[in-house]
Amino acid sequence: MANTFNNQYTNMTIKDKDSLCDHNHEIIQELIQLRNGNDSSSNQDVQKVNKNGDLLCFAKNIELFVHLCDVNNYPKTLAQIDILPIRPKHLPSQHSLILKFVPNYITLEDIQNEINLKINTLFNMEEMNGSNTGKSRHIRIEIKSSTECDKLLSNGGLTIDDHIIELNEFLASPQLLFCSKCNDSGHVRKHCNLQYDACRRCGEDKSTGNHNECNICCHRCKQNHLATDYKCQFIIGYRRALLQTLKQKPHLLPPNVKLFIPSECRDDGDKSNKIVSKISTKNITAYNDKYNGQVKHLPFNINSHSWPSLGKHQSNTIDLTTDDGLWKEIKNNQNEIEKLKEEFNNKIQQCHNRYDDNIKKIKSILSIVSSQTKYQNENVTRCYSILNKFIPLLSATLILFQKLTENYNEQNKMNDNSNETHQLIQYISSSIVYMKERNDALITSQKSLHNLSDQQGQLLLQAVNSLESNHE
Ligand SMILES: [Zn+2]
Ligand SMILES: [Zn+2]
Ligand SMILES: [Zn+2]
Repeated sequence: MANTFNNQYTNMTIKDKDSLCDHNHEIIQELIQLRNGNDSSSNQDVQKVNKNGDLLCFAKNIELFVHLCDVNNYPKTLAQIDILPIRPKHLPSQHSLILKFVPNYITLEDIQNEINLKINTLFNMEEMNGSNTGKSRHIRIEIKSSTECDKLLSNGGLTIDDHIIELNEFLASPQLLFCSKCNDSGHVRKHCNLQYDACRRCGEDKSTGNHNECNICCHRCKQNHLATDYKCQFIIGYRRALLQTLKQKPHLLPPNVKLFIPSECRDDGDKSNKIVSKISTKNITAYNDKYNGQVKHLPFNINSHSWPSLGKHQSNTIDLTTDDGLWKEIKNNQNEIEKLKEEFNNKIQQCHNRYDDNIKKIKSILSIVSSQTKYQNENVTRCYSILNKFIPLLSATLILFQKLTENYNEQNKMNDNSNETHQLIQYISSSIVYMKERNDALITSQKSLHNLSDQQGQLLLQAVNSLESNHE
């Protein structure tokens, strides 16, 4: 891809380049203003001018960054000011590879010659700090063209002096951003609560006293290291927690990022030493749609990137896509919690309504049951009073019947009281009719009593069921 850019600019005439600059006259004025330190809005979080007065540039795209790493891609002058581009020391880790355990007798020059036979866009090559064992060391090589980088990587190794040397992708070890005021991580200067600028060595107020030779004592753990030293137990813990989160949510990483997980940040027995962003250049458009709300077209084309305006707010913002992703994730989670809360409240309200309904139902059922019980009791009383009348009547009838039998016996002897016998028989038969009527009334009462107790039983059952369903 870098070759394409080179062609675009090498084919450009000086006149074309000048006109490109003329069209961007305003931005150049702003750049010069920044260079002269006249911009009152300059924010110390984003230092656009370094100690030497050099202008610092930030690139949003890896491709643009790599493109700007080539000093040939800059004009010699901008608005009558000579431009002297200072290229960065390293390319992004996506353009870096590691040659592992290269024997010390193979020189950097040998390796460079070998690589130059295969590719054209070597940017930098160096021994990795702290990797030299006395016999061998790791070499980091940086290649501008991503196609050539992929090509080398797919070979898996290099053959130098009959040695096969393993070639791996370079994994950037995750760096933390420290607050430039209190030297803690997790926030930036703008959101810092400390009242003064703290010294990284002693943790005291930098504006008082001499802090060139003050006592080195970390303000967190009181050990003998700088506040921003990765040796600090608090920083190790913070970085570990951060990496664990990223490992579980690799979609929060910007596209094409691969992070190295230092051994102190891995779980016991965990062999995987990297976190890989799930988003590759192939679906970067979808990623941008999702996270930036912008549509970008691939493959990367320098013409599609006009110079951005250096608006005060815009220019002070570093595009920390990871942070953006995290914030979006937090916001999404918050929305989800709000939704769950609402659902929960609805459920509670439904339960209350059902409870009230059931209570009303139970109340009406119980009042019906109690009025029925009252009626039932009246019936029972009536039954008893009928029986109370019936029993003396029955006994009187029996007495009469006894008398009749006696009379009948006497009649057999005297035979002159047929009239009295007739009256007695009449009385007995009317008593029998009356008894029959009472008996019928008793049976009816019993039936209605039976019905009532049935209904009552059903109502009580209903009440119990309704209480049970309420408990669900
Ligand atoms: Zn702070
Ligand atoms: Zn100090
Ligand atoms: Zn410490």
